[in-house]
Amino acid sequence: MPDAHRGYYAEKEAKKKKKKKEEEERRRWEDKMHRSSKASGSKSAANSENDRNMAQLREFQAGVAENKLCFDCGQKGPTYINMTVGSFVCTKCSGML
Ligand SMILES: [Zn+2]
Repeated sequence: MPDAHRGYYAEKEAKKKKKKKEEEERRRWEDKMHRSSKASGSKSAANSENDRNMAQLREFQAGVAENKLCFDCGQKGPTYINMTVGSFVCTKCSGML
């Protein structure tokens, strides 16, 4: 087998090994995520910050009557925010449905 070909195969083999390693790493990461989401009681700092932001957002929404309705169709209790124009919209108008 010419040297050039041997180099090609070696490279291919190395890529395969690298891919396998990446897959293993991802599986480990997913497993970790799964376990941490199951763990209850100890709230992480990120979670409490999320709660704080949500509370602020709810407070802001409650302050203006129009914000309690979907900007596009007028449905009560919009659960999404259009970040482009800054309006509260329902699930349907958010494009999630
Ligand atoms: Zn709507």
